[in-house]
Amino acid sequence: MLKELIRIIKNGNIVVLTGAGISTKSGIPDFRSKDGLYQKYGEKIFDLQFFFENPSVFYDFVYKEFPKMYDAKPNFAHIFLAKLEKNGYINGIITQNIDNLHYKAGSKNVLELHGNATRFYCTKCGKQSKNTFDGYICECGGLIRPDIVFFSESVRYLEESYTLIDNSSTLIVVGSSLQVYPAAYLPIYAKKQNKTLAIINKGKTPLDDYADIIIYDDIVETFEKIAKHFEEVVD
Ligand SMILES: [Zn+2]
Repeated sequence: MLKELIRIIKNGNIVVLTGAGISTKSGIPDFRSKDGLYQKYGEKIFDLQFFFENPSVFYDFVYKEFPKMYDAKPNFAHIFLAKLEKNGYINGIITQNIDNLHYKAGSKNVLELHGNATRFYCTKCGKQSKNTFDGYICECGGLIRPDIVFFSESVRYLEESYTLIDNSSTLIVVGSSLQVYPAAYLPIYAKKQNKTLAIINKGKTPLDDYADIIIYDDIVETFEKIAKHFEEVVD
């Protein structure tokens, strides 16, 4: 399977969909795992109404958990994907993650379905800010929110994601358990468009039967193995 995946990556024209699994080795907690954030704070923490009604509870969470994201460094998998993009193998990355690690790694074409936790804006005047450690009330009196997608909100860049898949020949899913829609619909869409679908994930996903190539393994270790066949990419 790995051999086949290497062959497919060499062919290029690839779009990658990443989930929490790519960032666990960077120390980002997986929201849906047993020791993840939902276990700790409950799913209501990303409920928009809860946010507006309890901003101080939400920001206790932000001040405690977000710095881990800000301090996190991209791991080998993020960096290798950025290099593959730079060398023309990858057309773009669609990510479910809000941790900014693809940009930190140097990727350019990144579609952040769930937003980005390093950006904030005022819900009243729209003014953007880098962080909220000086307070979460804007000069205008409005409540400042993170630029991330809450549960009741629509994911972003869905049309752009479909277009990216249309314009590529292969979709590689990396570290997503494919349990959250509509992101989990993207691999199904890719198959309907007769694209090659590869999944690299530690555990099984509900869409494994759709995949042409499936690798159940550690993400970073898998990309370290793949990188050995791309000496021109890894300097
Ligand atoms: Zn404002």
